[in-house]
Amino acid sequence: MKILAGAATDVGRVRDTNEDAFLVDADLGLFAVADGMGGANAGEVASHLALSTMHAQVAASTSDSLEDTLRQAIEAANTAVMAEAAADRAKSEMGTTITAMLIRGDRAVVGHVGDSRLYRVRWGRVEQLTEDHTAVAELVKVGAVKEEDAHSHPWAHCLLRVIGREGVEVQLTDIDIASGDRLLLCSDGFSNSVGDPSWLTLLDAKPPTEFAADLVARAVSLDGKDNATAVVVAIGTEHAREARQSLWKRFRKNVAAALHRGDAADD
Ligand code: CA
Repeated sequence: MKILAGAATDVGRVRDTNEDAFLVDADLGLFAVADGMGGANAGEVASHLALSTMHAQVAASTSDSLEDTLRQAIEAANTAVMAEAAADRAKSEMGTTITAMLIRGDRAVVGHVGDSRLYRVRWGRVEQLTEDHTAVAELVKVGAVKEEDAHSHPWAHCLLRVIGREGVEVQLTDIDIASGDRLLLCSDGFSNSVGDPSWLTLLDAKPPTEFAADLVARAVSLDGKDNATAVVVAIGTEHAREARQSLWKRFRKNVAAALHRGDAADD
């Protein structure tokens, strides 16, 4: 299937460094975001090292299995980040999230560690395809915290899985992709800023590169306390694109209110 993709990242309005990183390789069918942590510039090192290691591993892989390819590549990223942390005391606490999608033909698999996210936008419906590996997400699952309160909970940013830790478990999920789908990989700085993701149906409105830039600019204008990153992947043919655009026109009325709120915040 034809794939178009674009990405954008922004340091935000408060922080001095951008610890987010992204990867877009449409030829390889590999797309990812990583959100680093660890003080000084260690988070930046961790996220970039993790993605470059994963990228090289996927490019060199001879496996026919998407799952094996992505799992091994993310495990290699984990090993690389741990080795770098062990070699330099200033980086000893560094780590990163990874949310990566590998597409071959009409198959796709997601490898996920942490609280970056993957959303799929299909025919006007937005679905989150990853679960956050946070303490608060577990509390929501067992009903101890309401979903709408999760964002402000003290444990909202307490990660249960991190790249750069011994024996990290990579969550691998097969996902269904079809012509016309739009997929969004994003860091928590993006998802926390924009809140309810229903307006992501606007992903059909512009080419991926332009739209990723718009999404990140919107996230920064709404909040800006964290680094924000978005990778937009558009799947399908030009014909499907036209069909989506006509659906988008009909749907636009329904999201006009959300749009208005966002535009007001931009000004
Ligand atoms: Ca973040």
